[in-house]
Amino acid sequence: MKTLKDFNFKNKKALIRVDFNVPLDENFNVTDATRIEAAKPTIDAILAQGGSVILMSHLGRPKGVEEKYSLKHILKTASAILGVPVQFATDCIGLTAKNTAEKLQAGEVLLLENLRFHSEEEAGDLAFAKELASLGDVYVNDAFGTAHRAHASTTIIAQFFPAEKCFGLLLAKEIESLNKVLKNSEKPVTAVLGGSKVSSKITVIENILDKVDHMIIGGGMTFTFVKALGGKIGDSICEDDKQELALEILRLAKEKGVQIHIPVDVVAANAFANDAETQIVDVNKIPDGWQGLDAGPKSLENFHKVIMESKTILWNGPLGVFEMENFAKGTITLGNSIAASTANGAFSLVGGGDSVAAVKQFGLEDKVSYVSTGGGAMLEMLEGRILPGIAAILD
Ligand code: AMP
Repeated sequence: MKTLKDFNFKNKKALIRVDFNVPLDENFNVTDATRIEAAKPTIDAILAQGGSVILMSHLGRPKGVEEKYSLKHILKTASAILGVPVQFATDCIGLTAKNTAEKLQAGEVLLLENLRFHSEEEAGDLAFAKELASLGDVYVNDAFGTAHRAHASTTIIAQFFPAEKCFGLLLAKEIESLNKVLKNSEKPVTAVLGGSKVSSKITVIENILDKVDHMIIGGGMTFTFVKALGGKIGDSICEDDKQELALEILRLAKEKGVQIHIPVDVVAANAFANDAETQIVDVNKIPDGWQGLDAGPKSLENFHKVIMESKTILWNGPLGVFEMENFAKGTITLGNSIAASTANGAFSLVGGGDSVAAVKQFGLEDKVSYVSTGGGAMLEMLEGRILPGIAAILD
């Protein structure tokens, strides 16, 4: 696995695929610069060696050239974070890009305009990738968030750098962290899978059954399992057509010696609303007209014990409707258990959009071992897939 360490960037132009797809407010101010900050170590390391940096990224989902998705909006923030004035090319290919890139001196940084202003980017167009490739000497992929896409700048471009390509520090760290869970994990390994639906997590569940000792299943998924086992789930969210699958998962888990932990009690509400009436009930005795929206206290105690005994923990998906304050307790408590176990020496990896949001919202970011930057990409790796963006560097 080639990383920055394998190259000397002195007087070289590093063409780095970063993920600067940051949220902007209505005045085009960056509201969360995490992704820019995450790319900084790689950029700094290359500049420190006397190299120059050409950054390419997408922003949003533009249809052709759309001013509101211009990466020029992030220049001020990027310059402040990187501590150097970031230059800008108003197109990512063509003469403008070529001329600006050619003039780039050691220690300088150039940001190219949104890659997705050209439909060729997402189409994985070879000629477009070749034009991008002509701008730099070494290709560095540091964008985990798009590593599961075979786009021109994430995958196709790598073939124009048969030897001069590597992972950036961020992407290398993502791969290393996931490997710590999936490959070189210290036992016992526990996966916590929450979220709304079994159907969106099923491949993950099937793949990681081979790698974990415990699996905690929470969130909306719970009720498909409970109903399949004959419980009464009231009006809780449920995928009826996935009940067979739920039973099959339980059977497989037994066969593989994986202990499955499902909530035993829930916070049930008489409406899907923060101000709904609530009661704590057994998970398999939810009255009609009520729905389970969070894990109950007994469940959280059970989960805490499992988490504290674990040496490796993977967390994807909230335990309840954490966006509503009254149903956030399960997710917060679980997060605290994971933080406590981490303080005890466990390795914990949190990934997937909603659990990352929860970890940030509840101030647990620095109390877990690693927070992944890629939702879809992480899920695909957990599903056991080889991501095209990663394969292209390994080739
Ligand atoms: P996912 O995108 O599949 O990871 O699901 C995340 C969403 O699941 C969050 O928006 C949660 O509000 C939702 N969720 C978690 N638990 C429940 C539940 N018991 N009932 C309905 N939605 C839930």
